[in-house]
Amino acid sequence: MIARPQPVLAPRTALVTGGTRGIGAAIAVRLAEGGARVVITGRQAAAAQAAAASLGGGMLGLALDVTDEASVSAAFAHAREHLGQIDILVNNAGQAGSAAFTRTGTDLWQQMLAVNLTGTFLCIREALPGMMKAGTGRIINIASTAGLTGYPYVCAYTAAKHGVIGLTRALALEVARTGVTVNAVCPGYTDTDIVRDAVSNIMAKTGRTQAEALASLTASNPQGRLVKPEEVAGAVFWLCLESSASVTGQAIAVAGGEVLTG
Ligand code: NDP
Repeated sequence: MIARPQPVLAPRTALVTGGTRGIGAAIAVRLAEGGARVVITGRQAAAAQAAAASLGGGMLGLALDVTDEASVSAAFAHAREHLGQIDILVNNAGQAGSAAFTRTGTDLWQQMLAVNLTGTFLCIREALPGMMKAGTGRIINIASTAGLTGYPYVCAYTAAKHGVIGLTRALALEVARTGVTVNAVCPGYTDTDIVRDAVSNIMAKTGRTQAEALASLTASNPQGRLVKPEEVAGAVFWLCLESSASVTGQAIAVAGGEVLTG
């Protein structure tokens, strides 16, 4: 008889940035289902608290703007005070501003770097010392296929996501002997507000119908569809398992074969 143990998260307390909707909300649900106590964060406390409450008791919802260093420090201090050590950090908060390079102003450039890259750095800086002290931890950065290859009209976003993968690889090696793993998960076009906004943008700029605009995005996915947020969450959950302890420094595409790595 083969023993079939339930998958159990090794570390137990998780903080998900941008957990109020989309991919982050799906990740929070999956981690909670796996037995983790989850801290959901977003820019508005009320939205974060509502999302946390929807997961059941023992969860925490906090305001945390990843572009604001003081906000990051305050949220982590609050989370540590109420739930103790953060064992799993999922850097999911992100924005995908688009513009032709010649129309990319310094504001858009700085915003994309701040929310997607520097925010990831700031949150890791808060969580890592406790993980290293505990000798265990999982850091999972939600990058993008735009961190693995290039796309037109998203230079700033693509540069930021490439930066996230560079950070992931360098840090994974730096902490490889500490019990902390650092990985990136790279979704392709996923069924969330980011894609809904992109479809509206394409419709406004090109006069295409909604179906045509959506088809122009799904055409890049060999499976011919949008990725589901739950599929990204499944990859994150797998990285959190005890049995994934030797997976570190990886950038794992969840994109229907759009980008082939390895
Ligand atoms: P959504 O727009 O659905 O959600 C974005 C989340 O990020 C929200 O919870 C939002 O919270 C939060 N957020 C935005 N700005 C900030 C900020 N400054 N500080 C803190 N939180 C912030 O996006 P997705 O779920 O689609 O995207 C999640 C991640 O996945 C992003 O990093 C994105 O780049 C990446 N990704 C998405 C793809 C897609 O096609 N959807 C493809 C590839 C990667 P709130 O508004 O409550 O503050």
